Amino acid sequence: MIKNNIKQFKDFLKDTNTRLIAVSKTQPVALIQEAYDAGQRIFGENKAQEMTSKHEALPKDIEWHMIGHLQSNKVKYIAPFVSLIHSVDSYKLLEEINKQAIKNNRTISCLLQVHIAREETKFGFDETEITSLFSEKKLSTLKNIHILGLMGMATFTEDERIIHAEFQSLKKLFDKLGVSDLPENVSMRELSMGMSSDYKIAIEEGSTLIRVGTAIFGERNYH
Ligand SMILES: *Cc1c(COP(=O)(O)O)cnc(C)c1O
Repeated sequence: MIKNNIKQFKDFLKDTNTRLIAVSKTQPVALIQEAYDAGQRIFGENKAQEMTSKHEALPKDIEWHMIGHLQSNKVKYIAPFVSLIHSVDSYKLLEEINKQAIKNNRTISCLLQVHIAREETKFGFDETEITSLFSEKKLSTLKNIHILGLMGMATFTEDERIIHAEFQSLKKLFDKLGVSDLPENVSMRELSMGMSSDYKIAIEEGSTLIRVGTAIFGERNYH
């Protein structure tokens, strides 16, 4: 089943600029290996320690993406190997990622999470905060991070008009920032939006990275 799902996503994304992140949080190593054997190489996790132990157990050519809220004191676990952190939601977290990147003698790629949904609880920056962050000199002193773009989550709703509108607003911000004068360590290349329930809408609205769990692995089993 997983093999087929991966194959279907591959076919679906062929001839697009969108890549698939297989969200493997809570899934056992054996199922991730199954997706790997079907050719999938990018996996997304939302907990630092879980990602670290899966990284140790699985093939080393996997790209691990952090997609969940990340506490500063957990950055050290994933800093040696993480490929992209989608969920950066504060300057303080950027500073810690930079510090741990220096310790590991590497550059860590990040996306800034933008708050686009109606729900109050979602983490993230708003447009004003990002604009002022990019105009401040202090951001370019974080030489071991590279901000590659934005990430957002739409409201969980059946109303597709709301989802379209929220993804459109994120794409608009992404394009606007892309033509502005950006700090040296910032470029607007990746737009991470879309999950199992709304990835088709997200692709229509310009997503370059979709984060899909349930539609690949089935329902998650939280013990
Ligand atoms: C769990 C999760 C996903 C995947 O959700 P599905 O509905 O299973 O596709 C995507 N993005 C984030 C941030 C998540 O936490």
